Amino acid sequence: MASPVLPSSGVLSPLGLDAVRLAPGFWGDRVVLNREVTMAHCQEWMEKEGWIANFRGELPRRGREFSDSEIYKLLEGLAWADHPALPELAGIVARAQEADGYLNTRWRHARYTDFEWGHELYCYGHLIQAGVARLRTHGEDELTQVVRRVADHVCDRFMETTETCGHPVVEMALVELFRATGVERYLEMARRFVDRRGLPALADIEFGRSYFQDDVPVRRARVFHGHAVRALYLASGVVDVAVETGDLDLLKTVEAQWESTIARRTYLTGGMGSRHFGESFGEDFELPSDRAYSETCAGVASFMLAHRLLLATGDVRYADLAERTLYNVLATSPALDGKSFFYANPLQVRVPAEPLDGINLAAEGGLRSPWFTVSCCPSNIARTFASLPAYVAAADGAGVRVHHHTPAEIRHDGLVLNVETDYPWSGRVAVTVAEGGTGPISLRVPAWAEGATLSYGETRRAVPPGYAVAEVDGGWRPGDVITLDLPVVSRWTVPDARIDALRGSVAIERGPLVYCAESAGDVPPLAEVVVRPDAAVEHVVDGAVELDVKAALISGAPTGWPYTAEKETPDEEPITLRLVAYHRWGNHGPATMRVWLPVDTARSRYLEEV
Ligand SMILES: [Zn+2]
Repeated sequence: MASPVLPSSGVLSPLGLDAVRLAPGFWGDRVVLNREVTMAHCQEWMEKEGWIANFRGELPRRGREFSDSEIYKLLEGLAWADHPALPELAGIVARAQEADGYLNTRWRHARYTDFEWGHELYCYGHLIQAGVARLRTHGEDELTQVVRRVADHVCDRFMETTETCGHPVVEMALVELFRATGVERYLEMARRFVDRRGLPALADIEFGRSYFQDDVPVRRARVFHGHAVRALYLASGVVDVAVETGDLDLLKTVEAQWESTIARRTYLTGGMGSRHFGESFGEDFELPSDRAYSETCAGVASFMLAHRLLLATGDVRYADLAERTLYNVLATSPALDGKSFFYANPLQVRVPAEPLDGINLAAEGGLRSPWFTVSCCPSNIARTFASLPAYVAAADGAGVRVHHHTPAEIRHDGLVLNVETDYPWSGRVAVTVAEGGTGPISLRVPAWAEGATLSYGETRRAVPPGYAVAEVDGGWRPGDVITLDLPVVSRWTVPDARIDALRGSVAIERGPLVYCAESAGDVPPLAEVVVRPDAAVEHVVDGAVELDVKAALISGAPTGWPYTAEKETPDEEPITLRLVAYHRWGNHGPATMRVWLPVDTARSRYLEEV
């Protein structure tokens, strides 16, 4: 089965790339663009920056200490896509491997001298994930041999020590290699890396040990904390270890940490990490829109974690969070042409960017960057989109569960299903049976979808959030159609009052999509806008739904001291404000943007009424 995650136990088993093929549509188009444009774009930049030449031994070595990992993430993407560019690139990597399995272009003359910042095990983790992808899509070849030697080297070198890496990822990679090869010591090595973290295993650093989750053993942590990508990669590896070792307490610990993090430390978009300092989670309810970091890679990592928890537990809320993150973080990072990326994904941008010049930019102000000095995000998008079909559906022992509604062909146990839908723009999902079979067919109903209906044969019934389960006596026959109607209409969303930065604001969501105002064209300055949360008017523009809402402009330049005892109503000029899906913003040049909009409290008693 060709899937990035293949647990040997759990409530659900994923259906892999060999069982799910995406058709043209929201995600199918992105997977094709990724294969045909984004991966070549990444490889060109890696060549241009000298990161591939590092493997050829060219001097001086170029790039940051972890740049090897970008080549590995690209290799993983190429493997999932079964791309013809893989063997040549894998050969360049293979020739840099040393006789004992060691492989790193930065530290070859100073091996394992800096566990806090060296990223050697982190790089191995991404290389091992590429090897797993190759094993599952192609079988043994030069790349998988390199990966086996690396994994054996890691076990030989680290099994009996107390060391670990400042940046997790090797944990989940080793568990997956165990799943792919059956070599038990890879699992044991992963378990030891998890258990020794937080004892502590690393030296203190300027950000503190919480930065790399070495401040407390994972079994004692209450919530995800520190560097967001590290925390979420670690949690993914912990779930994998828990599942494979049957450690249910450990699994429950991660579930509780996830719950706390969702309730207190997650943006409306699903984004995680509210601090630029240390690229880290903030404290509970510290979720500023304009200073949101919400790194693309943290979105990828959260998506991977949610998928693992979904497979282990069958709890549909993990799929809900995965969907939110998929549409509002992962789909947002790449530009519509697949050649530039957001690194951070804030929910408010106050100043439009200066025109792009060079690569050492933060990709802020509505302009994505084609590449970065630390370019973790583009290759992370590339490998995730290349494997995306493997996240769409799963089997539960009795039948099929479809978690992400997108045009696709899904095969399981003789059953072939064709999914047709314009989701997320509209809510009708039609599943046609192309080849018959048995077992229930379950379609996910997201938590926001109150009032959904399910129809097939003579059956038509309301279905609450969770799974809409279609079952027939005697099995499914070719031509049977199951239709799920989700209420994809715009809705106003109010934040928890404890999120200080959002008090007095509302946002609009429509289906799984978060919307935002963008200052492209003749849109007024967004800092001066207040909204009236009445019904929005829909428009279809380039196949996407845009929304007009009633708003007002606070007029007059601010003068004097802005804090007073008087509750004077400012002058306001009514306007109509156009909102676009957040993932589409920033595709028309420099712009300002905001998701959360202050409520016009002078004219509306909305907040008191809800
Ligand atoms: Zn990143």
